[in-house]
Amino acid sequence: MADIIQLLPDHVANQIAAGEVVQRPASVVKELMENAIDASASQIRLIVKDAGKTLIQIVDNGIGMSTTDARLSLERHATSKIRSADDLFNIQTKGFRGEALASIAAIAHLEMKTRRDDDEVGTELIVEGSKVLSQEATVCPKGTSVSVKNLFYNVPARRNFLKSDQVELRHIIDEFHRVALAHPNIEFCLHHNESELFNLPVSKVRQRIVNIFGGKTNEKLVPVKESTELVKIDGFVGKPQFSKKTRGEQFFFVNNRFIRSPYLNHAVNAGFEGLLKEGYHASYFIFLEVDPHSIDVNIHPTKTEIKFEDEHSIYAILRSSVRHSLGQFSISPVLDFERDASLETPYSFKDKQAYPPKIEVDRTYNPFQSKDESSGRQSFQKTVPAQWESLYVGLKSENGPGNESEEAGMSFESDAGTGSMFDEKDTKLELRTFQIQNKFIVKAIKSGLLVINQNRAHQRVLYEAYLERITINEGVRQELLFPKVIQFNSNEITILEEMIPQLIQAGFGLEVINGDELHITGLPVEMNEDQVDPVLQQLIRDSEDQVPGRNFSLSDLVAKSLASALAIKSGKKLSLDEQEYLVDKLFSCKEPNVSPFNTCTFITVSVDDLEKKFN
Ligand code: ADP
Ligand code: MG
Repeated sequence: MADIIQLLPDHVANQIAAGEVVQRPASVVKELMENAIDASASQIRLIVKDAGKTLIQIVDNGIGMSTTDARLSLERHATSKIRSADDLFNIQTKGFRGEALASIAAIAHLEMKTRRDDDEVGTELIVEGSKVLSQEATVCPKGTSVSVKNLFYNVPARRNFLKSDQVELRHIIDEFHRVALAHPNIEFCLHHNESELFNLPVSKVRQRIVNIFGGKTNEKLVPVKESTELVKIDGFVGKPQFSKKTRGEQFFFVNNRFIRSPYLNHAVNAGFEGLLKEGYHASYFIFLEVDPHSIDVNIHPTKTEIKFEDEHSIYAILRSSVRHSLGQFSISPVLDFERDASLETPYSFKDKQAYPPKIEVDRTYNPFQSKDESSGRQSFQKTVPAQWESLYVGLKSENGPGNESEEAGMSFESDAGTGSMFDEKDTKLELRTFQIQNKFIVKAIKSGLLVINQNRAHQRVLYEAYLERITINEGVRQELLFPKVIQFNSNEITILEEMIPQLIQAGFGLEVINGDELHITGLPVEMNEDQVDPVLQQLIRDSEDQVPGRNFSLSDLVAKSLASALAIKSGKKLSLDEQEYLVDKLFSCKEPNVSPFNTCTFITVSVDDLEKKFN
């Protein structure tokens, strides 16, 4: 039989390599920007059309290439950056594998113009799918310009795999941020579809961070600095009180190369220990400098993971320097997560020390007695009127944390003996509802018992209300006396901008000003100002988690997010009126039995079930 093994033709080998190096437009951006940096450019321009699907162009003013080099640069394993395997352990450049241009040229239309400073004329190359279509002398400025058009034109599977423009652009911006943060001594700009998204002059690191993430970032940063034989650490961590639920701004650079490292991320978080609320993430911009011999960058084709020789020590040093910085800037004493805690944590009042459970010994207490008659019960007295009044305040106490009933909740719940006084108000005892564990509402029905999950039920109610407003009747707005201004980074603004029509329908008044500021001029009537921030954060998070597809609807996303952010949480004590209102509202919904997230809102326990239990 004949031999069957063959060497793959170059263009096929290149396409295979491209699969590893180029996953999406953002990968091209990364590789080309890195090439420009390696070419000692002091100015790098990135021009993108349709999130990189139509065009990605990088123009630099670096050293340029000779005609022969320009031609060679497109070959696989062609690099000017290393000569021998030994060099692999002393890498000072971004690139070294000699794969990027060859890979990109294999799966796109590529045009390159390049000229060295000393050359009179430059070279222009036009390449399609690894084939050089033309090579000519040309007049062009010093440096190199590479245009990549119609990415994946010959790999339809890849092209179809690309996400929406919004998502792909976000990836591009992420790469741009990483490169720009690592090189504040280089001027960068980014244009997308004729609009300038970033224009970053040469500056110090801190200024670069602020130029990218917005003016308010400055006050949030705490410097981290440490110098040991093993590693030099420089950079910033975000003050804990500005931590967010989204991961967003977390950056490690090792020898000016952006890397991902769950291990080092853990080290930073360990440095924050005790200062971050659960589920919240600190931001950080950490630059590590190590001896190039002590790391291996070549363990991943995109070079975003590296191996350290002495990982454990670096972990320890990083953790302690973050800790030290936070301490030095006396962050800990000013921490205040109380407000959020009461919003989110079930039974949070349990941890509050203010009210010892004196109710246990106060069986003589009569709420109808005047204050004077029950003397010597200072702390108890304080709790009771609030609780008592809350029966009558109706739905006013619905809007959020910090209302009276929460503080008092525990003392009453712990004593069934005093429960009878509530019956006064209920003329029909059988119709009343009960709240269990500040979590479930129980109501007797003909066939047995109804147990409602208060959080999910309220989500359903709000979801249907918002969806109706967004799609049919615009919501009622309360205008704010002074507009509330919130700053977001460019990704977040991009996401929010897309939803502005839906948010306005839902009852918000808002507009984007100066590129990164959201001015909020009005709110849906049932919302208060303190809720704006968490609600918008949740919207951004939900949108980031969303995989756009055929069934994707922005209206639905916005309605769901608002519902989940604003719904009464588990752990919230509800007055009788509130309980009844919620039950009524739930059962006037179109789909009362499931939450907007398809979880059940209530269960029933039949008399049969109950009887079985007693068998
Ligand atoms: P690598 O960066 O790993 O060397 P690339 O395929 O990205 O591989 O580039 C191949 C070679 O082309 C580089 O080593 C460099 O010599 C040259 N080159 C690429 N881009 C530029 C540029 N913008 N300016 C000057 N030279 C470049
Ligand atoms: Mg390269």
